[in-house]
Amino acid sequence: MLVHGIAWTPSTVLDAMTTEANRQYPLETGGALMGYLNDKSYVVTSYIGPGPNAIHSRTHFQPDYAYQEQRIADIYQHSGRRDIYLGDWHSHPNDVTPRMSSDDRRVLANIAGHRDARIDRPMMIIIAGEPSRGWVPGIWCGQISPRLLWFPRLDVHDLELRIFD
Ligand SMILES: [Zn+2]
Repeated sequence: MLVHGIAWTPSTVLDAMTTEANRQYPLETGGALMGYLNDKSYVVTSYIGPGPNAIHSRTHFQPDYAYQEQRIADIYQHSGRRDIYLGDWHSHPNDVTPRMSSDDRRVLANIAGHRDARIDRPMMIIIAGEPSRGWVPGIWCGQISPRLLWFPRLDVHDLELRIFD
């Protein structure tokens, strides 16, 4: 599949995701990603966890939306209005390969079509695995393409993950 861009991600953000995935295992967990877009590159700068009122199950995760909105606003302000909401991340416990489910595609389509999210090609990171074997990241971006005489369609593209210290 065509790689549609690069997502520069600090190792500390990946470490935070795997720590949280281990903590909630075997339940799903997740959160949001903050940073900025630089042409076709995504630059992730920080991580938001699930929040205290998130709902975790073995096959589903729902973030604490009030907590996330507050954290998104705080990080935006503290970054001098540079860092915006880029998308979501979540874990797939006991999966070997990270793959987007039909629910995941719906979530990404909702974000891409949501004017308040202020990003028309949001990213999604899924980490698949378990504590003893470790977690494998997969990363995508989605964009709504308008179609005549039919519902808008979500185009999903692979991103290349580049981790830096
Ligand atoms: Zn999922």
